[in-house]
Amino acid sequence: MIAAGARLYRPLTVADAVEVLADGDAELLAGGTDLVPALRTGRRRPRRIVALRRVLELRSRGAGADTLIIGAGVTYHDLVGWSLSPGLAATARVVGSPQIRNAGTVGGALGTANPRGDLLTFLTAVDAEVVLRGVHGMRTVPVGSFLDAGASPTELVTAVRLPRPCGPQLYLKVGSRQAASATVVSCALVVDRVRERVNCAISGVAGRPMRPLAAEEFVRDQVDWSTATLSADAVIRFGELVTEAAGIAVDPLPDDLLVSAAYRGHAAGVLAARAAGRCLSGPVRSRDASTASVTATPSTAPVVSAPDGRLRV
Ligand SMILES: Cc1cc2nc3c(=O)[nH]c(=O)nc-3n(C[C@H](O)[C@H](O)[C@H](O)COP(=O)(O)OP(=O)(O)OC[C@H]3O[C@@H](n4cnc5c(N)ncnc54)[C@H](O)[C@@H]3O)c2cc1C
Repeated sequence: MIAAGARLYRPLTVADAVEVLADGDAELLAGGTDLVPALRTGRRRPRRIVALRRVLELRSRGAGADTLIIGAGVTYHDLVGWSLSPGLAATARVVGSPQIRNAGTVGGALGTANPRGDLLTFLTAVDAEVVLRGVHGMRTVPVGSFLDAGASPTELVTAVRLPRPCGPQLYLKVGSRQAASATVVSCALVVDRVRERVNCAISGVAGRPMRPLAAEEFVRDQVDWSTATLSADAVIRFGELVTEAAGIAVDPLPDDLLVSAAYRGHAAGVLAARAAGRCLSGPVRSRDASTASVTATPSTAPVVSAPDGRLRV
């Protein structure tokens, strides 16, 4: 038993799941990595629990000409080896432990909407769209609007849509321990060689992953798009601009026991410069996203605990 007094529903279709949600006071149970601890400690006491494991239509993922679509029931483990999105694979690879990656799902990440959630940071960088289904039908919203509004209790996330990669992508993260500790700061960098754009999202500095737009604009103007390279000076300046953006973030996260807000802003700049340096450091052989031109390095930035107990990037 995971929640005393709650009735457990096991629908086979999204339509059936949505009907239970419409009756109110229900929680969706996907991988349970966030929900089960909340039920056990009594932080959540729903009257109904809707287990999604049997809803097979949520478990698919696929690709169109320009878009990838990933069902809400797809796990981090499913994404780790997905060659169609190296950036997503790199992001999934640094989430929690193997147990968490086996259970945790895309829909659960959006449902929890943790401001430092790794997947949410990557989805913010690529301008993903969230597909929702309620009793009145389906709607699609940009991930930023979804995070601003919060999940509706009567709707289910059925999938996310994101553009197919058109260049290098990278996800870098700082955390005191990969498996069991929350992300301190992370950075997703996505280069689009076709549209000549560089998107960046950082988490750990504000109430949701943020886009340092002035830094993105700067780096886009500085890249030599014939070779997709960036000078060393521009890489450094990009990092400084990301730190500046973190310093003026709307809804900034305050200092906490482990790190100060100033440290997190600094770390965000370091990660962003590191990511730009790696993604834009040399000629890329092909503009075709399906070839080796799309690179993503699985990486967690090592964090050193200094004698003063502070984290250093
Ligand atoms: C030890 C540990 C380590 C972790 N490490 C990381 C980490 O490194 N990085 C990271 O980002 N996260 C981490 N997490 C958090 C967690 O794994 C993720 O948030 C996960 O994606 C949640 O997915 P789930 O399927 O387990 O969701 P559940 O726990 O089943 O549900 C979470 C919430 O989402 C809602 N929900 C579920 N499915 C849907 C849906 N389809 N539509 C709408 N709402 C839905 C539920 O109602 C619930 O409110 C960690 C958690 C633990 C316990």
